[in-house]
Amino acid sequence: MAVEFITCPTCKQKLALQSYVAVGALVVCANPKCGTSLRITQRKPVKVEVVPEEETHHHDYRPESYG
Ligand SMILES: [Zn+2]
Repeated sequence: MAVEFITCPTCKQKLALQSYVAVGALVVCANPKCGTSLRITQRKPVKVEVVPEEETHHHDYRPESYG
């Protein structure tokens, strides 16, 4: 299975990204102290941008739903 690695712009945590994750998809930083929402903006090479919190709410996406 192909996995690419990205670095969180906020905390520099390395994050594994599955190859099937499409441009425009949202991922959340795996660092529990960070939890920044990131959007895939480009593949090959993969690039991400930080998604503002209000925008994640707009998309009805809940990165804080860990329980
Ligand atoms: Zn992070």
